[in-house]
Amino acid sequence: MTLQERIAEVSDRIQRACAASGRDPGDVHVIAVTKYVTLDKVASVLSAPMEHIGESRWQDAESKWIALGDKGTWHFIGHLQTNKVKDVIGKFQYIHSLDRLSLAQELQRKAKTAGIDVKVFLQVNISGEESKYGLAPEEVPDFLRSIASLDRVKVIGLMTMAPFEEDPEHTRPVFRGLRELRDQLNHQALTPEPIRELSMGMSNDFDVAVEEGSTWVRLGTVLVGHEEGS
Ligand SMILES: *Cc1c(COP(=O)(O)O)cnc(C)c1O
Repeated sequence: MTLQERIAEVSDRIQRACAASGRDPGDVHVIAVTKYVTLDKVASVLSAPMEHIGESRWQDAESKWIALGDKGTWHFIGHLQTNKVKDVIGKFQYIHSLDRLSLAQELQRKAKTAGIDVKVFLQVNISGEESKYGLAPEEVPDFLRSIASLDRVKVIGLMTMAPFEEDPEHTRPVFRGLRELRDQLNHQALTPEPIRELSMGMSNDFDVAVEEGSTWVRLGTVLVGHEEGS
């Protein structure tokens, strides 16, 4: 399949998931995850055109960002080491993996120095798998209180990763759990603005994630493929 065909198919599936759940497809944004592909492929994704690019490691993203940084909007979706904040701040407009206080404090420091705000998603480990990063759901209210004074760090959403399931239907409770957590947090009014965004859904499970309220799907394999055999 060509890139254009893949984009059309993804958009079709998002529309169907929205129709099934009474949602507006305009509320669902697609991040093209380019961590498996080279610079040339990122360039074709951007000229497709797609606006949002996701990368999970600065070491892999650096050369792509240097060449194409001004051509799109960049999302840092992987685990972020505190000593890498200086590299990504001001380059990646969205950070999807805030999961600890020390990282929030470093984001605040570097954003302040740069004179910018940084938009973040709190990563939450809904499934409870030990291998996954993220705050436990019950830790989130206190975490939000502990970062409330960090005025450069704008929490716009929650992010989660579901376990891989042969049958994506089995991921539904994870996505529903993240949506319900967002709604509870907003009920408690722990942030200056309500938390609106949900970053959830990958190649294997994005239809279900959209049905459960995802506003940002992060798609690698299904959309841009892998460098070999794609
Ligand atoms: C790699 C990655 C994705 C995309 O994975 P696919 O299954 O290829 O769509 C999405 N989110 C995160 C956090 C990732 O690391």
